[in-house]
Amino acid sequence: MTTADRDPWLLTPGPLTTTDETKRAMLHDWGSRDATFIETNARVRRSLLKIANAEDTHVCVPVQGSGTFAVEATLGTVIPKDGKALVLINGAYGQRMVKILDYTGRAHATYETAEDTPPDPAHLEKMLADDAAITHVLAVHCETTSGILNPIAEIAEVCAKQGKSLIIDAMSAFGAIELDAKKVTFDAVMASSNKCLEGVPGMGFALIRKSVLEGCKGNAHSLSLDLYDQWTAMEKNAQWRFTPPTHVIVAFDAAIRQFFDAGGVAGRFKRYTENRDILIAGMRKLGFETLLPDSLQAPIIITFKMPEDPNFDFEVFYDRLKDQGYIIYPGKLTVAPSFRIGCIGALGAAEINGALAVIESTLKDMNVQNGRPAAA
Ligand SMILES: *Cc1c(COP(=O)(O)O)cnc(C)c1O
Repeated sequence: MTTADRDPWLLTPGPLTTTDETKRAMLHDWGSRDATFIETNARVRRSLLKIANAEDTHVCVPVQGSGTFAVEATLGTVIPKDGKALVLINGAYGQRMVKILDYTGRAHATYETAEDTPPDPAHLEKMLADDAAITHVLAVHCETTSGILNPIAEIAEVCAKQGKSLIIDAMSAFGAIELDAKKVTFDAVMASSNKCLEGVPGMGFALIRKSVLEGCKGNAHSLSLDLYDQWTAMEKNAQWRFTPPTHVIVAFDAAIRQFFDAGGVAGRFKRYTENRDILIAGMRKLGFETLLPDSLQAPIIITFKMPEDPNFDFEVFYDRLKDQGYIIYPGKLTVAPSFRIGCIGALGAAEINGALAVIESTLKDMNVQNGRPAAA
């Protein structure tokens, strides 16, 4: 497989490899008031609610931009100016929510654990009991920095018990790891078009509890990121307030149709889990070690510790894999030098096995004995 034949496979946290069917859906132009486009937009919004089993309780508000735009829009809209958030942090995306709260001027506290350690629900409960000013809890479902799966059901239980509003950044998990609004109580969840639903990048969305959003008028710090205004305007005439990302939405519609055809959340979870298991088993055979124990490892992206062999140079390794059709990703950890390989996107066992074969031959070419990291 060479890049002359096709685009390289993206083994990254996103944007990801999309199917030809999804890409082909974009080969047209649509006006923003076009009836077909308006129906497509409505179908996408309904489908996103359905994926979270939230049609009866929540509304879907899309927003132009990358996933971070949706996070910033949701925090700014849902948390009132006199609210206070508790942010659960074990990676860069938890940190980013703190930065957003700084920009938007919302009071906040943090509960930070190491990048390989999920938050302890009992400690969360104690923090909430100790600080009555906290109104909202912000959590990341799969923290893509390491690939760790955070215990979202337990976190939600504590929040419900303490009467706190839960906002979930499920960007890298939505569509692949079950989040059922009938089982897990949350007021808002954010995700984007270009992760596990395998659309193209360009829009984010939030599913927000309708009774909560109805009370959010005037909260937002920003006109373009005001999801109350975005929602009420879209309910009125079914159109976006400002230029819609038409091609992104039509491709997203095609991607979601394929998602349901392939078994929805259960189907995607199964394929990504197989990808993860093949990848980890193959990498361990080459001597590599994962950062996380298997019990904490989500089927989204895997962090591998940097090999100790002095002949291993990540930049060279990365470039050689890229030349052979596979894009991996640098690490983002503070605890240890590492790199990441994603297992999401429109790819399966054949592509993961292809990547493993290229990794093995590249190590040989680089004269690297094996992938074993330095002893901790
Ligand atoms: C990808 C991602 C985001 C959003 O990142 P963008 O680059 O803005 O799309 C936010 N949170 C998590 C957990 C993510 O994985």
